[in-house]
Amino acid sequence: MRYAVFGTGVVGRTLAARLAGLGHDVVVGTRDPEHTLARAEADDRGNAPFAQWLAEHPSISLDTFDAAAAGAETLVNTTAGGVTLEVLAAVAPAHLDGKVLIDIANPLDFSKGFPPSLEPVNTDSLGEQVQRAHPALRVVKTLNTMNCAIMVDPARVEGDHTVFLSGDDADAKKSVTELLTSFGWQDRNILDLGGIETARGTEMLLPIWLRIMGSAGHADFNFHIQGV
Ligand code: NAP
Repeated sequence: MRYAVFGTGVVGRTLAARLAGLGHDVVVGTRDPEHTLARAEADDRGNAPFAQWLAEHPSISLDTFDAAAAGAETLVNTTAGGVTLEVLAAVAPAHLDGKVLIDIANPLDFSKGFPPSLEPVNTDSLGEQVQRAHPALRVVKTLNTMNCAIMVDPARVEGDHTVFLSGDDADAKKSVTELLTSFGWQDRNILDLGGIETARGTEMLLPIWLRIMGSAGHADFNFHIQGV
């Protein structure tokens, strides 16, 4: 399968590396590839310069968001939630239409410091905004409720724990379920919540996720829903 992973941060890198390791063709999307490759310093979260990471993953390539989408069958959104709509608006509709978009972004607003707030929230979600803005995309919200290392390697957390799915297209959710299974997720731990509007609930898990991380002092944990 040919994947475009939108985003050069730690989540994009983690997903891209795992997909490539499974034998998929992967192009990472960014605003300006030359500018991204020219960054020489670690980012403000300590991630190595992207060019260094890319050199360690020679099967993966870098292109603009639009060019990455053009050649891909499936898209993975790991951009900052506050810019996701802007990023997708800059992609030619022909490069989006009919494709599955796996939306991992959270609409966290850090403009007033930590902890961040959510925007949108309660009566809307980023997943729904993306689906409304691009009706021909088949949006599946998933994996956004855990640290990225766990997304692609659920065995990092001992025992059963849960990954949620939200989306309006049953076939898209089936193909994403198959991908999750290839990452190591057990069927019994993949919980389909229903339509894309259910992304409100999973995006609203972020405030409690952040509090748990603060209390635990690490991010190697996940939610486990029992009894459903
Ligand atoms: P991030 O720093 O939130 O986002 C990086 C990406 O956003 C880059 O590709 C960057 O483009 C793009 N971007 C930033 N500002 C932009 C702008 N003004 N216009 C266009 N694009 C812009 O990366 P991250 O920490 O890897 O997180 C990615 C997403 O995953 C977020 O939505 C986050 O909430 C979600 N998430 C993270 C985790 C985790 O484990 N960290 C877990 C669950 C969900 P360039 O490449 O051009 O710089």
